[in-house]
Parts: sequence; structure tokens; C-alpha cells
Amino acid sequence: MLDDNLRASRQTADQRPDLQLSFEFFPPKTDVMEERFWDSIHKLAPLHPRFVSVTYGAGGSTRERTLRMVSRIKADTGVPAAAHLTCVGATKAEVDDVVRLYQAAGVGSIVALRGDPPEGVGQKFTPHPDGYQNAADLVAGIRRIGDFDISVAAYPEKHPQSADWDADIDNLKRKLDAGADRAITQMFFSNGDYLRYLERARKAGVTAPIVPGIQPIHSFKQISGFAARCGASIPDWLAERFEGLEDDPETHALVAAAVAAEQVTELLDEGVTEFHFYTLNRSNLVLALARLLGRRA
Ligand code: FAD
Repeated sequence: MLDDNLRASRQTADQRPDLQLSFEFFPPKTDVMEERFWDSIHKLAPLHPRFVSVTYGAGGSTRERTLRMVSRIKADTGVPAAAHLTCVGATKAEVDDVVRLYQAAGVGSIVALRGDPPEGVGQKFTPHPDGYQNAADLVAGIRRIGDFDISVAAYPEKHPQSADWDADIDNLKRKLDAGADRAITQMFFSNGDYLRYLERARKAGVTAPIVPGIQPIHSFKQISGFAARCGASIPDWLAERFEGLEDDPETHALVAAAVAAEQVTELLDEGVTEFHFYTLNRSNLVLALARLLGRRA
């Protein structure tokens, strides 16, 4: 049973002026996907997100589409747009040109990332000889160009290429010291991983917000694949909840909603007030979760 404090924290969620939401999208490839993209953006825009962000395909493969989408989000909905940007396969001058295009389009926020090598996640990353070396280097470069709001990535289960926890947290600090405003985490499914990470970072002197990245499980099979590729683990209890639901989309959807609701309300009870949602360009689950957190369209 909920104790009175927890109940109160949930009941007052409606009045939380400190609640900050952001929504991540990927640039659509086809006309049908683009239709769903805009439909979702229009449904989520009234939730007053801090920003709606659009990812940057591996090796800059979506450069034009990312730019087109963020420019239009800003122009059509008035919602602040954030563009992701990576260092992969480009010189500093080329990356700087993209930053200037974002600036000219009125995009005030950038999610600055190293990116993964074209050979795939987990392979050794070799920076372009004239390129930014890593995300911290990129953040410093963006800061030299303009007064952007900058987010960087954080890893509650440690980045797979970090030698140990100290190296991982040192890297987070370098990115924030270079001028990032906040970190957004990789997806995670055990809140304990996030809370322990927060504790490690705070102990190391990190004061910037570390926003949990929440991945609603629209398809357990698909999300398990993503998680494996980015080094996020799927706890046994989670796999058990979805076991045998491959051909039962209705129950799958209900379990997915329950799992995500449990995750965000637990974090809210822990005092978390900023959330970043990996939407996969869908709005329904995210709309419901925002409502649970106290934000309605
Ligand atoms: P970095 O912070 O540069 O770190 C990468 C690794 O290198 C870490 O292990 C770090 O410890 C190590 N390292 C860095 N600098 C040093 C140093 N000086 N000395 C020693 N070790 C060092 N990818 C995309 O391609 N497009 C996207 O749009 C995208 N969006 C993302 C959004 C979020 C919120 C997150 C969490 C990830 C996203 N990614 C995206 C994935 C990201 O590009 C990968 O996780 C990538 O492997 C690491 O990027 P990073 O910015 O964390 O790298």
C-alpha cells in the first residue's frame, strides 16, 4: 500500500510546475512513416515539452532529413526542436556547417553525441582525422559557434566502451564541463540502475540534471534487439512479463503500458521531475504516461 507521502506526491503531480518532458523522434524514411511522424508530433506538442528531438542517423546518413524535420517542427508547431548531431565520418568544418544550418533554422537545442562507427555499435571508434574526437570535443565546438542548449548522453549501465565506472563518470563530467546543460540517459528498465548511477555522478561532483530516457515497449522483440545493441540489459522479470505475447497484441499493449507506468511513477516517487521519452514516432503510450505524471494535452 502507498504511504501518505507517496500518495501526496502522485496527487500533486498535476500542479508540478517543475515537470519537464522531452520527446525523441527519428527522421521518417517513407511518406507513410512521415504521416505517422507528424500525427504524433501534433498530438504530443500540446504537452508543452521542453523540446522534441530528432535523431541523426549513423554516420550522418539522415543529415538532410533531420534538418528538414527539426526546422518544420519549430515552424509548424512552435514547440522547441532539438537536433541530434554526431562526430562520425565528418571533419570539424563539416560538423560546424551543420550546426550553423541548425542555428539558421532557429533550432536552439542540440543533443551532442560521438555516434557509433559505421561498422556497428561496439566496434572500435576511430575519429575522422580532422574531426571531433568525442562528444566532449563536439560540445566545446558547438559552444564556440553559438549559445545552444546542449544535452549529452549518459549510461546508467556504463557505456560498453568505458574501461570502468570511474572512466565512465569522468567522461560524463568532461562533457558537462565542456558546456553541456544536461545529460539524457540511455534506455534502462531497472530503476535501481538509474538511481545508483545518479548517486555515483553526484558523488563525483556532477550537479547537472541527468534526465532518465524512458523507452515504452511497443514491441518487446524490437526493443530487446535495440537494448542488446546499445548495451542496455533486459531483466528476467521483464522478459517473463512479455513471454508468450508475440501473437497477442492486445495483452502485449496492456502489459507495456503497465510496465512503463510502473517505471515512471516509481521515478516520480523518487523525486524525478524530468523525463525524456523515446517515442519511436508513436504518441499513444507517451500521451498516457505524461497524463500519469500530471501533464495533459
Ligand atoms: P562519448 O561521450 O564520446 O563516449 C564514448 C565512449 O568513449 C565512452 O565509453 C567514453 O568513456 C569513451 N571516451 C570518450 N572520450 C574519451 C577520452 N578522452 N578518453 C578515454 N575514453 C573516452 N547515436 C546516433 O548515431 N545518433 C543519434 O541521434 C543518437 N542519439 C542518442 C541519444 C541519446 C539520449 C543517447 C543516450 C544515445 C544516442 N546515440 C545516438 C548513441 C550514441 O551515439 C552512442 O551511445 C555512442 O556509442 C556514444 O556516444 P557518446 O556521445 O556517449 O560518446
